[in-house]
Amino acid sequence: MNLKTFLMVGLGLCLAFTLIIGDRVMAKELQTVKSETAPGGIFGLGEENTAYNKYFIGKSYLKPLTDEGVSSSNVTFEPGCRNNWHIHHKGGQILLVTAGRGYYQAEGKPAQELHPGDVVNIPAEVKHWHGAAKDSWFSHIAIAVPAEGATTEWLEPVGDEEYSKLK
Ligand code: MN
Repeated sequence: MNLKTFLMVGLGLCLAFTLIIGDRVMAKELQTVKSETAPGGIFGLGEENTAYNKYFIGKSYLKPLTDEGVSSSNVTFEPGCRNNWHIHHKGGQILLVTAGRGYYQAEGKPAQELHPGDVVNIPAEVKHWHGAAKDSWFSHIAIAVPAEGATTEWLEPVGDEEYSKLK
């Protein structure tokens, strides 16, 4: 084997090795990105939330997480989906944002843009809505703050004109 052949073979092996390793690293990263950005995020999408259809504009999905002591679910909104104005009586609600981009608005205040990692404390008796941005899926864990006789009162939909002002 002359020097030229030796160098070419060496270079070829190096290239092949780099491609194989690089490919594996990329495949793994892609998988991670996929599971973190898929609708529903790391807690999963669950089932279409048909029971609450009448209180939402657009499609939403529900993945129940806990039901012992404290009830919590991962709620996912398709782009443009939001729930109607509503009030959690007595108990209130906590939202932990898990994926996408969306909004929370309390009556009389500007809508608050939400991203993964954001926490929203919704006191009992505050009229509000939550949902996705027009162009993004959105997921949050909803925790019902336990309280004796806690109920949710569903009210009017968030108007298209009002919602379409949000980016
Ligand atoms: Mn709520």
